[in-house]
Amino acid sequence: MSTMRILVAEDEITFRHMLKTFLTKWGYQVVVVSDGLEAWKILQEEDRPRLAILDWMMPSMDGVEICRAIRERKSDPYLYLLLLTSRDQKQDVVEGIEAGADDYLIKPFDPRELRARIHAGERIIELEDRLIRAQEALRELATHDSLTGLLNRRACLDSLLAELDRGRRAGNPVCIVMADIDHFKRVNDAHGHLIGDEVLCEVARRMQSSLRRYDTIGRFGGEEFLLVLPGCSLEEGVKLAERICHLVRSEPAKAQNKSIDVSISLGVAVANQPVPGDLEVLLGSADAALYRAKEAGRNRVEFSANLPSPSSGTPD
Ligand code: GH3
Ligand code: MG
Ligand code: MG
Ligand code: MG
Repeated sequence: MSTMRILVAEDEITFRHMLKTFLTKWGYQVVVVSDGLEAWKILQEEDRPRLAILDWMMPSMDGVEICRAIRERKSDPYLYLLLLTSRDQKQDVVEGIEAGADDYLIKPFDPRELRARIHAGERIIELEDRLIRAQEALRELATHDSLTGLLNRRACLDSLLAELDRGRRAGNPVCIVMADIDHFKRVNDAHGHLIGDEVLCEVARRMQSSLRRYDTIGRFGGEEFLLVLPGCSLEEGVKLAERICHLVRSEPAKAQNKSIDVSISLGVAVANQPVPGDLEVLLGSADAALYRAKEAGRNRVEFSANLPSPSSGTPD
């Protein structure tokens, strides 16, 4: 915790020296400047210190101006501002806090008090870090499936909507693949639900390993997956689906010393000229193709090409 970086902006050499000496002794990394504008510049940087000790009276930009300017723009993560002042009238303190300082210290100050106030700032910073981590964990929970780590149904539908939108603007096709594990109920029945889970994860991993960076895959339902392939033609989508189909089938999934044969069926559909409201049509087409793959004996790819396509119209 005490490897934290602290910015010190103080124009009086004695205080500057004293601050640097104490802070260094207490184990902080200290960045020292002697004028306000320099401090302001450092506080704009990407990797700026999280805590700043700002003297009120400084050339070019005073501490209160810096506080005000910092708070005007939303800074992420939070910047903890400790104002130094030799004035001790109530009105001044009020002005500093109103300008956005978190705390203040009146010069000359007792080093123990300085240290205690820095500790208070560290607690706030630590608290914010915990909040950010909790937010990230919640976002992960809300958008990902906990078993496979893939996007959940809602998140992959969101991603599909966004890609359809982007495809529409750029005039690019969006291909989707609906994939479903074959006879998965038998895996559960023969080996139990836990081994079933492991097989499911292995299939998810194999599918994910075949994708390009901008493709997305989500767990659409129990043992069903949705792939979104932006910029992919139907032919390219079918090729990828074939590759995934073979990869899943290529070797048995290993789960708790058991080798379990596994295969999937896939249905491919493309939106060549994405139009508003075509989400359901597209999903319906992929679903219908998947159904045909199951009917035709599973472990295979089928596709639908029944969406508006520039190449399917009559030439001018
Ligand atoms: P088909 O080839 O027609 O798809 O046959 P299937 O047995 O895969 O299809 P069905 O829809 O009859 O059964 C799906 C099975 O998938 C039943 C369900 O218990 C299992 N399943 C769904 N989600 C999970 C899961 O998270 N873990 C495990 N172990 N099994 C799951
Ligand atoms: Mg000064
Ligand atoms: Mg199935
Ligand atoms: Mg299913």
